[in-house]
Amino acid sequence: MRKPIIAIDGPAGAGKSTVARGVAAKLGYLYIDTGAMYRAVAVKAAESRIPLDDPDRIVDLANNLDIYFLKEIDGAQHIFTDGDDLTEAVRTPEATRLSSPVSAIPGVRHRLVELQRKMGAQGGVVMEGRDIGTYVFPDAEVKIFLTASPEERARRRHKDLEAAGIPAEVEKVAAEIRERDQRDSSRAMAPLRKADDAALIDTDDMSVEEVVQKVIDIHDSKVKECCTG
Ligand code: C5P
Repeated sequence: MRKPIIAIDGPAGAGKSTVARGVAAKLGYLYIDTGAMYRAVAVKAAESRIPLDDPDRIVDLANNLDIYFLKEIDGAQHIFTDGDDLTEAVRTPEATRLSSPVSAIPGVRHRLVELQRKMGAQGGVVMEGRDIGTYVFPDAEVKIFLTASPEERARRRHKDLEAAGIPAEVEKVAAEIRERDQRDSSRAMAPLRKADDAALIDTDDMSVEEVVQKVIDIHDSKVKECCTG
């Protein structure tokens, strides 16, 4: 029997990656970070010195880019484009800043959504992003919308940056998150939005383990529902 697709959406800093990775590891599902794909296009566009006001060239670049994930010997999932490991490059503040405007270009979204649908088609995947439950897989068996207060999200992002050795001020991180959320929620194509049938999880007062368990409980009850009719 085909295994479910778990769609996890939400704003920046809600903990989607940590939770999605945890759920995928527990269930033995494939984990797909769609944000990393938008970041990879942004990195490649910057490398080729294509300005943001030349969307046609960015679409052309995306259309000719082979983007894929591979598990490396460090056990972590790495993102590649045409043989280049971009795992570190996609995490720089510059990649973060560019990814949001790049992701608002409809042609880029068409290309990446096409790849994401291929990657998830067989089921048994946890895919995280902004539009997975609303647009990429509107029929996903499990849909989660993860959120947390803006202050908590800024605090978490700041902690991640510090851990990666990237100095940042909490206020600046908060402003950057606000700007990204605003742009991601107001773009014309597939904006950030909770799907009507997604379960809302506010993670402010929850540990990572609690959130992972909650998603697994929702998954298990869906599986039971489907198989017991
Ligand atoms: O999730 P992450 O912060 O890595 O995503 C980077 C950017 O990519 C987001 O700010 C958003 O603009 C974009 N994105 C998107 N749709 C997705 C995933 C990410 O538009 N499914």
